[in-house]
Amino acid sequence: MQQQLRRRRRIVIVGGGFSGAVLAIHLARRAKESLDIKIVEPRARLGSGLAYSTTVPDHFMNAPSTLSSIEPEDPHHLSRWLEAYASERGLDVDAWRHEGQVFTPRWIFGRYIEAQLNVVAEQCAPAVLVRHVRAAAAHITRRANGTIVHLSDGRAIVADQLVLAFGATPGRPDFAKDLPHGQPGYLGDPWREDDYSTLAGGSLVLLAGTGLTMADAIATLEAKGYRGRYLAISRRGIRAFERRSPAVLPSFLDPADLPTSLTKLWRQVRAVLRDLKCNGGDWQSVVPVIRAQLPDLWRSATAKDKQQFLRHLRRIWEMSQHRLPPPASRLLDALAAQGRLEIKAGRIQRTAARKDGRLGVAFKPRGGDHVQILTVDGLINCTGAQHDLLRATNRPFVQNLLASGHIRPGPFSFGLDVHPDLRVLDAKARPQSWLFAVGAPVRGVHWESNGVSELLSQVVGLADRLAARADTKEDGVELADNVIVVA
Ligand SMILES: Cc1cc2nc3c(=O)[nH]c(=O)nc-3n(C[C@H](O)[C@H](O)[C@H](O)COP(=O)(O)OP(=O)(O)OC[C@H]3O[C@@H](n4cnc5c(N)ncnc54)[C@H](O)[C@@H]3O)c2cc1C
Repeated sequence: MQQQLRRRRRIVIVGGGFSGAVLAIHLARRAKESLDIKIVEPRARLGSGLAYSTTVPDHFMNAPSTLSSIEPEDPHHLSRWLEAYASERGLDVDAWRHEGQVFTPRWIFGRYIEAQLNVVAEQCAPAVLVRHVRAAAAHITRRANGTIVHLSDGRAIVADQLVLAFGATPGRPDFAKDLPHGQPGYLGDPWREDDYSTLAGGSLVLLAGTGLTMADAIATLEAKGYRGRYLAISRRGIRAFERRSPAVLPSFLDPADLPTSLTKLWRQVRAVLRDLKCNGGDWQSVVPVIRAQLPDLWRSATAKDKQQFLRHLRRIWEMSQHRLPPPASRLLDALAAQGRLEIKAGRIQRTAARKDGRLGVAFKPRGGDHVQILTVDGLINCTGAQHDLLRATNRPFVQNLLASGHIRPGPFSFGLDVHPDLRVLDAKARPQSWLFAVGAPVRGVHWESNGVSELLSQVVGLADRLAARADTKEDGVELADNVIVVA
């Protein structure tokens, strides 16, 4: 069957979290021709994705509202929107204020993105149509004049350009590999809020990880009424730091003359840290300076320096960068003071289901010779995301893209491989002019590809490039007779 294409260019975005929704916003505004933007997303709401779908009121953004605006030219956009949103609903913005900075509850940040998308969709129609296709993408078929995106419900969409914005995958730690699928008491996906209710009546919950996901898991359990003890374990036993808001440090990195090796960069950073220490400064002021240059530093680094960074400095950087919003930090402090939260250094070796319904956990303390056996009511995987797509076997769409050669694993097994302009490289390393990716999947090439500010600059750049294209074909796309096309 020949399906006649309309002149309207069709852009399909797979994933309607922050990246997909904010891309649609900036693309719709920049469109110079009629566009049909479809966002394929199984969740009911657009803009929330994994991070902002939470219903837990004590899950906060980890950066203040002035750093989370989606208008690059207007850093106070979110702050103003929040004031209006809160006053309409009788909410108190001051309850989210710490040292003069507002930390937005994450569920409200999701509403912010959704509201901006709705405004733009209304303003730009009918020239630009933005629609939510509520389904998951399953696989794609490439035709000479377009791409067919097959959905999990049997329907299909035709795309002139396709953007992959499918976010991160929860990791699967080795220590849990012996537990049967669906083992009661084991929460392998820490972001499935409903599963937490099963632990609410317990007396000891073990958290594998001491970072931001651990803090989120604790806030979720507290919201579900859990009043038992927590034991959080990580290799070094260091809890995520609280985010402070020190005075802005003038940049010590010149974008036009960045250090040419990791050793030179590290030397420079250490000198600044020493200086700050002597003068009563705060090491946290160094983080935004490095962060601003990190994509360029990463792209220009040699493979050897990247490996050295991953081996020796990655953890330090991630701990410095991913800090707790003050309210989350206060909650952990309070629990520790009550004797309900303990943090230990060591390694979880194995886990096993016990006959009494609890879990047995073999734990080796750091520096110790003996393995301890712990009995816990629950174990929550807070080890973070799985960046290696080859191991993300629970994502059929990704596995199908790999199998069909449309994507290939990214550098150092991080996500997928892209050209710096975000065109996806196929299995033969050829950039594809019709396929793009943003967000966590491009981490191997852009490194910082997780926080709102990096994602915003990625999607704004991609929106510029997509809007500048005008390569719509009038020809038909071959479709099998049994394919139902989403109009
Ligand atoms: C719990 C958590 C808290 C965070 N907090 C912060 C924070 O405070 N500040 C900050 O800057 N960053 C934070 N982040 C980082 C966060 O990843 C980014 O800010 C941003 O939300 C990522 O958005 P995304 O759209 O790229 O990915 P996601 O939010 O993961 O969205 C991807 C979407 O793709 C959909 N999808 C996946 N596969 C398919 C498919 N086959 N078909 C269709 N749709 C699909 C998913 O349903 C999902 O909605 C947090 C991350 C997490 C996980």
